Amino acid sequence: MSRVRGTITKPEEVVRKFLFSKNFRYRKNDNRYSGRPDIVLPKYHTIIFIHGCFWHGHQNCKAAKLPETNAEFWRKKLSDNEVRDRKNIEKLRNEDWNVIVIWQCEIKNKNNRDKRLELLIDEIINIK
Ligand SMILES: [Zn+2]
Repeated sequence: MSRVRGTITKPEEVVRKFLFSKNFRYRKNDNRYSGRPDIVLPKYHTIIFIHGCFWHGHQNCKAAKLPETNAEFWRKKLSDNEVRDRKNIEKLRNEDWNVIVIWQCEIKNKNNRDKRLELLIDEIINIK
């Protein structure tokens, strides 16, 4: 799914561009942290994951509906992903990181996106 090319902007790029425009400076996909987070803001001790709803098993989300073929395979695979995500996030929180998860569906359409990104600033700044 990440192979889609062309004019589609990836969700993580949407968030990065927004943060950059607000003068936040970040590292991306930094291997030193559990789960290779999409965005690390060292100054704010904040880590942001942008999760695709399907691959990361967003609860009660239309975009995370299982395919009808090979349902068992997908159930297992996606539940493994969820467990891994949860462990990574737990580990980071134990290391005292402020961890924020943004779901793809939250920033898919422009209206939701603007609201979600505005909230994100609060989440980054206020938790310190
Ligand atoms: Zn979703």
